[in-house]
Amino acid sequence: MVETLLNTVPGTRDILPGEIWRWQRVEECARQIFTQYGFMEIRTPIMESTELFARGIGGDTDIVGKEMYTFEDRSGKSITLRPEATASVVRAYIQNALYRGAGLAKLYYVGPMFRHEKKQKGRWRQFYQIGAEALGSDHPAIEAEVIEMLLSMISSLQIETKLLVNSVGCVKCRARYIQLLRGSLAGMLQHLCDDCRRRAETNSLRVFDCKVESCQPHIQKLPAITDHLCVECANHFASFKGYLAAAGIGYQVVPRLVRGLDYYVRTAFEIVSGELGAQNALAGGGRYDGLSEVLGGPPVKGFGFALGLDRLVMLLPDAVAMEAKYKPEIFLAYIGDQAFRQTLSFARALRRQGRSCYFDFDGGSLKSQMRMANKLNASYVLIIGEEELAKGLFKLKRLEDSAQWDVTMEGLPSFLAESAALANPSASMKAGK
Ligand SMILES: [Zn+2]
Ligand SMILES: [Zn+2]
Repeated sequence: MVETLLNTVPGTRDILPGEIWRWQRVEECARQIFTQYGFMEIRTPIMESTELFARGIGGDTDIVGKEMYTFEDRSGKSITLRPEATASVVRAYIQNALYRGAGLAKLYYVGPMFRHEKKQKGRWRQFYQIGAEALGSDHPAIEAEVIEMLLSMISSLQIETKLLVNSVGCVKCRARYIQLLRGSLAGMLQHLCDDCRRRAETNSLRVFDCKVESCQPHIQKLPAITDHLCVECANHFASFKGYLAAAGIGYQVVPRLVRGLDYYVRTAFEIVSGELGAQNALAGGGRYDGLSEVLGGPPVKGFGFALGLDRLVMLLPDAVAMEAKYKPEIFLAYIGDQAFRQTLSFARALRRQGRSCYFDFDGGSLKSQMRMANKLNASYVLIIGEEELAKGLFKLKRLEDSAQWDVTMEGLPSFLAESAALANPSASMKAGK
């Protein structure tokens, strides 16, 4: 397609009314469940100073190195559209002194992130994440609770997943492990891809990110970090796994699950979907006790995750998504000008009573209005014609089973309330006052 001003910028798209309810279904589910766990929403700006991400994510990462949307604003300040939200949330926590509040700060966010990634199916440059951060404690039970919350949300959307966990140790034991890893890598360089060879030198943990087939058998032979944790980290990991087990959560320990950033410590996890394949994590997170200090703040313990909303929405079963789809309760079908004016006033009255109703301003034949009512999946159609107006008695049709009643406008609300309980209505009944 030719790029014009009538096209979205590459890597971005409109989310249209026909699919928005899939997103809303997921977002409402997250809000409801996260609130049950005591998490409060935080909305940070979409743009932040570039320095926040350069420091918070790390200059040698792909995100900061090649993917950020960075620009100078009119005052010459370097601004970046957020590529993720953890650094922003921690910045907000420090800036607003949220640590002065009682206990833990439990925060969640929903919103767009921006990364200029290579064009790839299913990858967007404006993509959406839901995430949560628990700031102020390093208790392993919090880690299990956050994971339980996330899994409970995903499973209530009827999406099947697997939990992968690992411990990446602490600054102390990881340094020893990396030395060991380097030694092992040095002995197998000739079998590894170019990227791995480079990583073996610069950031050896990132060898585990390699997706090249021929590297895999060799990577599997590398020492596992979980076998080289210090006593404190080993205890923490054991305790964390104990809390997961107590919550009835199954998991798999995956030693390759490491993160290249120094401030990530101890627990790391990923949630993968069977349908997306093991390489495609739906959500990932972990402990990042050093992040606040990297940003120049006080020491803050943190644990959180980010979940890719675009992928989750894709995996959402239609039946679950349907629950949030817009459908009017009552479709008002009218015939004639006088009936149209009456329809306006009926619609207003019904909406004031908290009922959702819909009518077509262009009217048209009764047949075409019925077609629209069916398309919108309305529960009922109320037919308003000249004759009905004269009598003050209107035909109410339930689309599901074509059951029909004659109702007065005054009797309609109580009728609707009762008819919900009627399993087998007779073909016609009067519902007067
Ligand atoms: Zn350690
Ligand atoms: Zn490789």
